[in-house]
Amino acid sequence: MNHFYKIPPVRSILFDFGGTLDSDGIAWKERFFPIYRSQGVPWSFPEFERYFYVSDDAIAEKKLKRVGYFKTVQMQVDLVLKAGGSYRKSLAHAIAEKFYKDSLKTIRRNIPLLRRLNRNYRLGIVSNFYGNMPVICQEAGLRPFLDVVADSALVGQIKPDPKIFRFALEKVGCDPEQTLFVGDSVSRDMQGAKSMGMPHVWLQAPDSKWKPCCEKEGRIQMLTELEMILSKNSLGSHSEAKPKPLSLQLHKEAAFPRRKLGQNLLPLKSSRFFVPASRGLRMT
Ligand SMILES: [Mg+2]
Repeated sequence: MNHFYKIPPVRSILFDFGGTLDSDGIAWKERFFPIYRSQGVPWSFPEFERYFYVSDDAIAEKKLKRVGYFKTVQMQVDLVLKAGGSYRKSLAHAIAEKFYKDSLKTIRRNIPLLRRLNRNYRLGIVSNFYGNMPVICQEAGLRPFLDVVADSALVGQIKPDPKIFRFALEKVGCDPEQTLFVGDSVSRDMQGAKSMGMPHVWLQAPDSKWKPCCEKEGRIQMLTELEMILSKNSLGSHSEAKPKPLSLQLHKEAAFPRRKLGQNLLPLKSSRFFVPASRGLRMT
């Protein structure tokens, strides 16, 4: 933890998902690899990485709007094993189950933190994902604490593009300088937030090869350390920090349309806003 970092007064906090809410700073690709090895898959990391991207790109081409968390993970693993010519149903299931259980364990640990933060801040997720992040948030019990879930496949823009950050900021009704971004990726999360003028905190994996994006960046190694930094935040220490409930409700409505998910968001492939598969830019 960067003990010298002082967050300017903020009213909202936006989080990345993969590697941030489901693990302590370790992205999906790096989390998956040791699980494959422990299940006897002999690939080197570069080999695995190649198959991982094949899988990631293939899933990004699909519309996963209603697909749940475990099935998403299972699809990811199935496609990786098939790409590497090592598919077996029992092997795929064992890898997916281990990854999924580890993810849920971390998310459940983080839920009380989100519940506490939700009292004083508007919260949201900005994730490079597959279009089903709102469903996953619902399934994982995160949704009650969130005012917006910006999934790149639904918004039509991918981090670090400023447009996806602007989309989320509009939904929480806060300016960039009033909004803290927390994520595990320097290139997607930290540099994206920095370019928007948002305060940012890096959830840094213990063996990360990345360097901080700037001196103004906070650093933590567990999400639960966030409160220690925020306790110095003058706005966050009292109830006026959070905007009024009425407008909050309106934003919730906009962020989670009742009838059709993504109704007022940019459509996928058929649109001129379609974003092609962007290797390495999702939660990897
Ligand atoms: Mg991430």
